[in-house]
Amino acid sequence: MLKGKAAVVTGSTSGIGLAIARGLGAAGADVMINGFGELAEIEAERAGIESEYGVRAVYNGADMSKGDEIAAMIATAEAEFGKVDILINNAGIQFVSPIEEFPLAKWDAIIAINLSAAFHATRAVVPGMKARKWGRIISTASAHSIIASPYKSAYVAAKHGVNGLMKTVALELATHGVTANCISPGYVWTPLVEKQIPETMKARGMTKEQVIHDVLLEAQPTKQFVTSEQMAALTVFLCSDAAAQLTGTNIPVDGGWTAH
Ligand code: NAD
Repeated sequence: MLKGKAAVVTGSTSGIGLAIARGLGAAGADVMINGFGELAEIEAERAGIESEYGVRAVYNGADMSKGDEIAAMIATAEAEFGKVDILINNAGIQFVSPIEEFPLAKWDAIIAINLSAAFHATRAVVPGMKARKWGRIISTASAHSIIASPYKSAYVAAKHGVNGLMKTVALELATHGVTANCISPGYVWTPLVEKQIPETMKARGMTKEQVIHDVLLEAQPTKQFVTSEQMAALTVFLCSDAAAQLTGTNIPVDGGWTAH
């Protein structure tokens, strides 16, 4: 379905981003993967996408907290593939703390990686998409782009911000064949969620089991975690021609959480 398309997926060495990169590859797109981690493991993932799906996969280690590295990554993707048709702004980090104790460096890092990175990457891909009259820009936001939870001030602010950014881009590009949307998972069992469990135990004075059942799954009426593969399937749909009129939206995939 996406044969001949080229995609960049930020934060795709793990979790949701990796599943999206694999999903786009399975649909026939060439992909640039990005993110941190063990180079041998990243190379195994990259080579696996190429051999399993018969597409090109390249890795770029740009730091999503740095605007100049993001612009250089998009330029490299355009040089490697000749274009970027699909941009997935997915890199993200989390930190959980009461606001009066929230470390300043954590605020700056979350705003940079979860919000400003989407601006830098979008800004860089738009000229080519406009020229070719086709593009898909999808940002992994969160249920926290729609509602708030205590102790996540930076994350909730950044995710609400990225939703506003995608809406604005959707309007600017509406007549250029380019759509811009957010996909908003509830809780997906990935390293990002596992890492916040000790912080939430501390902030709320709970055990690990209490955090999983009384905080995480309590939010989701289905009482199940969302899977990364479900997020990938939605992303592939948004890249299809069937989704050409779907723009400026924020699609929750949260087991009914934001229906509350
Ligand atoms: P994850 O920790 O498994 O993956 C995060 C990815 O981002 C990794 O590839 C990591 O290397 C990369 N990354 C982090 N900082 C980076 C930086 N400075 N530069 C480049 N890459 C960087 O997390 P995940 O759960 O897969 O999260 C992916 C996205 O989904 C994030 O935007 C997150 O906020 C969002 N999200 C996750 C959940 C969830 O429950 N897991 C829920 C809602 C939204």
